[in-house]
Amino acid sequence: MGRYFQPDIECMERSELEGHQLEKLKWQVKRVYENVQMYRERMDETGVKPEDIKTLEDISKLPFTTKQDLRDYYPFQLLAVPKRDIVRIQASSGTTGKQIVAGYTRGDLDQWSNGFARQLVAADGDEKSRVQVSYGYGLFTGGLGAHQGAEKVGAMVIPTSSGNTERQIRFMCDLGSTHLCCTPSYAMYLGETVKEMGVKNQLKLRAGIFGAEPWTEEMRKQIEEALGIRAHDVYGLTEIMGPGVSYECEMQQGMHICEDMFIAEIIDPDTGEVLPQGSFGELVISTITKEGQPLLRYRTRDLCTLDYSPCECGRTHVRMKKPAGRTDDMLIIRGVNVFPSQIEEVLLKNSIEVSPNYQIIVDRVNNTDTFDINVELSPKFNGDVEAEKHKLETQLRSMLGIGAKVHLLRPKSIVRSEGKAKRVIDNRNLH
Ligand code: ADP
Ligand code: ZN
Repeated sequence: MGRYFQPDIECMERSELEGHQLEKLKWQVKRVYENVQMYRERMDETGVKPEDIKTLEDISKLPFTTKQDLRDYYPFQLLAVPKRDIVRIQASSGTTGKQIVAGYTRGDLDQWSNGFARQLVAADGDEKSRVQVSYGYGLFTGGLGAHQGAEKVGAMVIPTSSGNTERQIRFMCDLGSTHLCCTPSYAMYLGETVKEMGVKNQLKLRAGIFGAEPWTEEMRKQIEEALGIRAHDVYGLTEIMGPGVSYECEMQQGMHICEDMFIAEIIDPDTGEVLPQGSFGELVISTITKEGQPLLRYRTRDLCTLDYSPCECGRTHVRMKKPAGRTDDMLIIRGVNVFPSQIEEVLLKNSIEVSPNYQIIVDRVNNTDTFDINVELSPKFNGDVEAEKHKLETQLRSMLGIGAKVHLLRPKSIVRSEGKAKRVIDNRNLH
């Protein structure tokens, strides 16, 4: 059994948890019906009234919310409280299209802090921990989200933000940081730099809390090895709440969704139909306790499965599996669906020869898609480059069902990311 930040909530009996969810759902639906014009209009169109929500299953009667809605009603029209009650604005990192913003009340920040605090404690953090926050601070939710959660636990927070990598590592050694929070791609970069500086034995790091972008199990192993830590996966999104929407316990078998705050569903991304338990599909989240900008059935576009089986850690909240990617990360190349995470998996299987630093370049020449992958050779590589290239191309073809041209580059030639990595350059729309 591990340690919990809020054992009464994290380990609540499921029946009690569901009772709480239903009560909060009813409360939230009534609030948004009364206070948010978009929801009132949509519910009126389909003839659903707040009183029609009698069971948790009735959630499927409610309208979906999409990222486009957040753009259309930008910046404040989805608020369910007066603007004076909003104490913080965060914005999406804009990975996909125009920015959206989210307003948080004091109560919302408190809940969000609880979410991240649960994560930190599950990663063996407490008031004696020294938490280095190397997520970017600012509109992006990573920095402030981790910061306020660690403060809530009472840890010593070291708000280095991202960048200035060597100085980060000096601080890590000098201050004895025990926990590191950043994107997994930045953690990889930090690991690489620690090695170059030859200071691994000066680190006091025990655990890392990494999220904001997809990463694979192989990458987890590499980070754990490079920094000598246990790496936890944390999930969040600006629209709902930053890191801490779901968090990984010591079992490292998926992230517990804070179900006292959220109701999660999995739908078929094409038809919108709710899928049976255990199905793979798009994660949909309803915020049942959020005050400022509550969202009903928000389509996250993240693809994953939900696992309702009991977790050995004792927490009862459902676990989401690592998102495989987003519906809008998916590239369609010559008619075939390709996820960057599949490419990463192949590269990480070959981690002796190549590094997982890669870039996908898609273009269109003479009406045909071109598909190129730049990959860095590992510094230790001393084999035959042509043979290596051929091997990777063969493995990629069998993984993806489509051929890609691999270009092996010198180590360190692909620019490192301090936040979310930019893996895809799609030039097809430029023509
Ligand atoms: P943007 O949509 O501009 O990137 P956000 O910073 O709000 O803005 O990013 C949220 C998104 O980041 C999520 O919807 C998801 O796709 C991705 N994400 C966050 N945490 C994880 C994680 N642990 N694993 C995979 N993807 C994640
Ligand atoms: Zn668990």
